[in-house]
Amino acid sequence: MSEEQKVIGVLTSGGDAPGMNAAIRAVVRTGIQRGYKMVGVIHGYQGLIDGEFIDLGIRDVSDIIQRGGTMLGTARCKEFRDDAGIEKGKAKCIEKNMVGLVVLGGDGSFRGASDLSRKGIQCIGVPCTIDNDIACTDYTIGYDTAMNTVVEMVDKLRDTTMSHERCAVVEVMGRHAGHIALNCSVACGATGVLIEEKIEDERNNLDAVVAKINKAKENGKRFFVVIVAEGVGNTAFAKPMKGLKDASFEGRKMDTEAIAEYIEKHTGAESRATILGHVQRGGRPSLRDRVVASEMGHHAVELIAAGKSDRVVARKEGKIVDYDIQEALKLEKTISADLYQVMDDTSF
Ligand code: ADP
Repeated sequence: MSEEQKVIGVLTSGGDAPGMNAAIRAVVRTGIQRGYKMVGVIHGYQGLIDGEFIDLGIRDVSDIIQRGGTMLGTARCKEFRDDAGIEKGKAKCIEKNMVGLVVLGGDGSFRGASDLSRKGIQCIGVPCTIDNDIACTDYTIGYDTAMNTVVEMVDKLRDTTMSHERCAVVEVMGRHAGHIALNCSVACGATGVLIEEKIEDERNNLDAVVAKINKAKENGKRFFVVIVAEGVGNTAFAKPMKGLKDASFEGRKMDTEAIAEYIEKHTGAESRATILGHVQRGGRPSLRDRVVASEMGHHAVELIAAGKSDRVVARKEGKIVDYDIQEALKLEKTISADLYQVMDDTSF
């Protein structure tokens, strides 16, 4: 291989998501097609600073499209948040003849990519997170697989919940975004959903869920599923809930266990909390995640080949597009009001 052959690197950063491997494969194969030498960076930005590189040829990315996780490993790197860390990363890129870097991750990873872009390395972000909480894109890699896992798990819980005439209170991922919770509550036929975006609205708070369960009981329903988003129920994020009718819970941190206790007390339905946790991040990527990861990985390399930098790949209304990273980071994503209405009108 000639000394002058330009190199494109690829790394995975932040939380892992099913479909990252499919994106790595697409980046590597497209880059090779366009005449680049392809290099994988192990352990995200930390590996870039430490010079942990592996050459990636066509066959090195065989047999990974169907695998969850990331073959490159992922990490969080404090050092890369400072200019000195970014300078070290830039120096390693130059040493390697790396003109471009594809960063598979979330908003935090894109901030790092933008900083490195401003130092002259062509960085392109590809949105990978199961939470679907990246505002510039309708879809993030990993979201579909994670939701399918939730649906499969809740269907299983539903069987036992029905047999015992209980209420299953299920905490799903979505750190500060209720997209997984809302979609899965519709898909699982849940009676209630609690998401951070709506929790302070009295029509959608815990008392509203209790009222729904009690109404459903009057209509003959004997078992219930309530989906709680991580941003509401996770012990690390849970807060006392404002305006609860039962003052004995006032000031108490309302995590998923406490929510189950409240529901049991006010509905009489024996309630059990289940926290699905990291199982949602794993598993074979779904068809959708494999296809979107392939499209986005392909587009990222096309952008580098066209001389672009500081861009993030996105999917908007069925098309693959791209945005300036800084512009994209300013956008805010909202929950689908239409889907919330569907949930509200069908869950009783
Ligand atoms: P995600 O990419 O999933 O949002 P993080 O927020 O943990 O995950 O970010 C992943 C990594 O991106 C961090 O460990 C850090 O190396 C880098 N990063 C995050 N924020 C910044 C920032 N403001 N500037 C530079 N790099 C950042």
